[in-house]
Amino acid sequence: MALDSGRKQPASTWTKSDAAKPGAPAVTQGHVNPYEMAVQQFDRVVDLIKLDSGIAEILRHPQRELTVNFPVRMDDGSVHIFTGYRVHHSIARGPAKGGLRFASAVDIDEVRALAMWMTWKCAVVSIPFGGAKGGVACDPKSLSLGELERLTRRFATEISILMSPDRDIPAPDVNTNPQIMAWIMDTYSMHAGHSVTGVVTGKPLSVGGSEGRAEATGRGVLYTIEEAIRRRGNSLQGMSVAVQGFGNVGSVSAKLLDEAGAKVVAVSDSKGGIYNPAGLDIKQLVRHREEQGTVRGFRGTEVVTNAELLELPVDILVPAAYENQITAVNAPRIKAQLVAEGANGPTTPEADRILFDRGITVLPDILCNAGGVTVSYFEWVQDLQEFFWEEAEINAKLKRVMVRAFDAVEQAQENHQADMRTAAYVVGVQRVAEAIKTRGIYP
Ligand code: GLU
Repeated sequence: MALDSGRKQPASTWTKSDAAKPGAPAVTQGHVNPYEMAVQQFDRVVDLIKLDSGIAEILRHPQRELTVNFPVRMDDGSVHIFTGYRVHHSIARGPAKGGLRFASAVDIDEVRALAMWMTWKCAVVSIPFGGAKGGVACDPKSLSLGELERLTRRFATEISILMSPDRDIPAPDVNTNPQIMAWIMDTYSMHAGHSVTGVVTGKPLSVGGSEGRAEATGRGVLYTIEEAIRRRGNSLQGMSVAVQGFGNVGSVSAKLLDEAGAKVVAVSDSKGGIYNPAGLDIKQLVRHREEQGTVRGFRGTEVVTNAELLELPVDILVPAAYENQITAVNAPRIKAQLVAEGANGPTTPEADRILFDRGITVLPDILCNAGGVTVSYFEWVQDLQEFFWEEAEINAKLKRVMVRAFDAVEQAQENHQADMRTAAYVVGVQRVAEAIKTRGIYP
């Protein structure tokens, strides 16, 4: 899409009758371009907070975008060219921060959207970073370990013109993990001639990683759900949960929700899902997945598809996989009362509207899954000061940050009588706009 795309949607808060109003955006079917979606979400709050039009225009565009085409020597001796990206949406509040994704669907618009969401997310939890994202279009499951390492090291070198602890700090995202972060740290360090641990977060503990980072996103999802439920005077005990995705975010969310007394009845991965209304034994399931490579086939469960999982009769739904999962098509059939976005961008704007009209609360990604980048911030601080904290301290600090962010979003929700996503955007966008205004437009 064109970068100078204008406003796509009236930037008012929703009311129950909005969808029926003449001029209200038509509810279209299905998937949405993620960058268009990110701009639509942003534009909803521009009028609401009376954002200066110049600042709005700045923030509609990513600040810089790097596309790299690079060769990797495959195990069979052939050379394969991969395409990767690193996008900085905004560095107004600090160094660019955000993960790297290795997946077939990676393209520039997805990376732009994810970078923009990182800007708001870092601002919502009030950590001093701007927003970035990167990725390589590839199918990591088809690569050998050696190919994956060579791809990672070459990609790290290609984007090293942007990376450094005070400029751009990558982290894990879909299909990337602590080992990949260690290769990036090592590659950067080899070029620097000394170990630079603070250039990437989500590293293994042995090379400057942080206690609690591996579980941080899922733990933040748990804290956000607990806050939402507690503030309604309810308890998580016995509430049924379906989790879409069993990667780092989904599996840890399922485990921690189970430990906190919820009943996880369904989970899924890329091969499909499993369901048992009586509840799943998550510890056994994690073992099954380690042995079998999938959650499928876990005893005592019925098979469901990823799409069916979203529509199960549960109290809480945690989409923890990809964008574009809850759309105008299936939003009318969602049965959960609470949707906690472990993934980035799982709900389209049309689906948001439908869920809102149906009285379903959405805990938005830029709040709900911000635990990961929050502990990335702690990791970066620890690396820079070369002094490391204990896990209990990290988790307590994470909880304080998440509750404080929840408070700010709830306050904005009251002030603007808005849904939680709009409220989170109000908080995030205002903080970024304040930084831009204070710094001024150079020159
Ligand atoms: N990829 C994660 C996210 O989407 C973490 C980013 C980070 O830690 O920098 O929030």
